[in-house]
Amino acid sequence: MSTIEYRITPENLNSHLFRVDIKADLTPNQTYTLSLPAWLPGSYMIRDFAKNIIDLAIRDEKDLPVSFTRVDKQTWRFIAPTAKVTISYQVYAFDLSVRTAYLDSQRGFFNGSSTFLSIAELASQPCQVMIELGGNDHWQVATGLTRDENTSLYSAGLYHATDYQHLIDCPVAIGDFDVTEFDVNGIPHYLVFTSEHFGDRQRMVRDISKLCQHHIELFGEAPFSEYWFITHLQAVGFGGLEHKNSTVLQAGRFDLPNPQYPEELSESYKTFLSLCSHEYFHAWNVCRLKPREFIPYDLSQEVYTEQLWAFEGITSYYDDFSLQRAGIISIEEYLAILSKGATRVYRGPGEYKQSIVESSFYAWTKFYQQGPDAANNIVSYYTKGALFALWLDFTIREMSSGQKSLDDLMRAMWQKFGRAEQGTTTQDYLEEFNKLCGQDMSEAFYERLNAKAPYQLSDQFAKFGVRFSRAKFDKLNSLDTAVTNDIKPYIGAMFQQLPEGLKITSVIEHSPAANAGLAVNDVLIAVAGRKVNETSLAKLLSHHPVGKRLSCYYFRDDLLIESELVVSDSPLAGVKLTLENSDLARAWFELN
Ligand SMILES: [Zn+2]
Repeated sequence: MSTIEYRITPENLNSHLFRVDIKADLTPNQTYTLSLPAWLPGSYMIRDFAKNIIDLAIRDEKDLPVSFTRVDKQTWRFIAPTAKVTISYQVYAFDLSVRTAYLDSQRGFFNGSSTFLSIAELASQPCQVMIELGGNDHWQVATGLTRDENTSLYSAGLYHATDYQHLIDCPVAIGDFDVTEFDVNGIPHYLVFTSEHFGDRQRMVRDISKLCQHHIELFGEAPFSEYWFITHLQAVGFGGLEHKNSTVLQAGRFDLPNPQYPEELSESYKTFLSLCSHEYFHAWNVCRLKPREFIPYDLSQEVYTEQLWAFEGITSYYDDFSLQRAGIISIEEYLAILSKGATRVYRGPGEYKQSIVESSFYAWTKFYQQGPDAANNIVSYYTKGALFALWLDFTIREMSSGQKSLDDLMRAMWQKFGRAEQGTTTQDYLEEFNKLCGQDMSEAFYERLNAKAPYQLSDQFAKFGVRFSRAKFDKLNSLDTAVTNDIKPYIGAMFQQLPEGLKITSVIEHSPAANAGLAVNDVLIAVAGRKVNETSLAKLLSHHPVGKRLSCYYFRDDLLIESELVVSDSPLAGVKLTLENSDLARAWFELN
């Protein structure tokens, strides 16, 4: 089989343009189809990457233009006039997300799904990519693509992929990097930051190594020979996308651990570690162990699956859970994180309207294109999927008298379906679950998968030494919870503080804010005749008895609306998990 030769060059930094050339050996007079994906694995939304393709041209061996037809927004067809053709175009690259491509005078980044056209008829042929720096000779290269024997680590030059799917699963970053190398089980890992930072490298390597070690131990093997953590730092940022031997992350520059405070474990650093843990877990769970519907991926249109609860929910369960197992956070700190996650699920009416199976299926629209009604009308296959994973874990541990756990289920699924990338069905999970429980659990399993109601988890938590309480919201505009008889002022809306007032970002239906007519994007300016900010609103409400009706004013666009806000105590809409018996809890955290 001949190799398809790609070449990519940063052509114009200030216009954010890459130049791409593709050379391929073809059969003369045969028809070929060029296309670019409409979405990329791990991010379930149609993104139409082809909209950034500019000035597409095809030339034959004599450098004469070859005509082609436009088939649809992302597909072109041509008849090969000669055995060799060159396909050339530019790609506009100015999206800071981890999903597409970016180029400016500081750095470049691209996913192959945004830059490399596939030749459909040759999609299984090996590819090579010549990565050029366009004169920015001091720049380095970070990618999970296979280096040619003449290409040294971090260098521009020739890289290889076994086929088109492999090519687009290896994003590439170029620029002046901060790189730290470390080994886990003898496997080289690269921690790359694509711009300056002030974080404590040694500490990050120490903590991330422990998480990697945990995941490799859980699955029993590492399915890659090297792994890249590539992080874009911004003033404020959060995001990640998983690949088979790399991940691209987005974080805030000051989310990293401060070397001046080596004992401090900030919330933002915990979140960064949790993100690293999450994406690394995906190297097994979803990059290889994946729904049958994804084999092979049809990247031209939506691919529906009811199983995202398994791939995002179980991964979300393990991302923070492994922080505790790795000794980075205490059981109490883990329970605080889990309380917050559970509160997101239990607080809104959304979980009465959608199951996690439906949430998975409608990921393309309802989850990825969330409107301001999300808390009221949908449930997340991430957060509620993680609670389903917790139920699986508790149940297997109980039914097997502590001999087995969700770890065993994941290892079995990996060995049976993941290693050979065979694809799973929901039934496959049930069968492994039944085996580990020693009896038919199908009723309880499907009841929870299809539930449009909160899970009852308090008895199971109690068996592992943890008290599950429904709790009040501790403050306005926060998911922190408290178990208390004190009055906790509550309006049922989240907001952003602006100089002119409080801009509403979400409203829970039937809440005091909803009853006052407040909607997303309204700006609440006054309550009881007083201008409000976050602090003064909380104080004002706390100085009035529950049930008192207070006048309020808010702007909707340029219209001033007068209404009434009823002083209310927080409902028990949140969750608080409290450690009561450490010995029982420790049994839950042991790696089986
Ligand atoms: Zn994920």
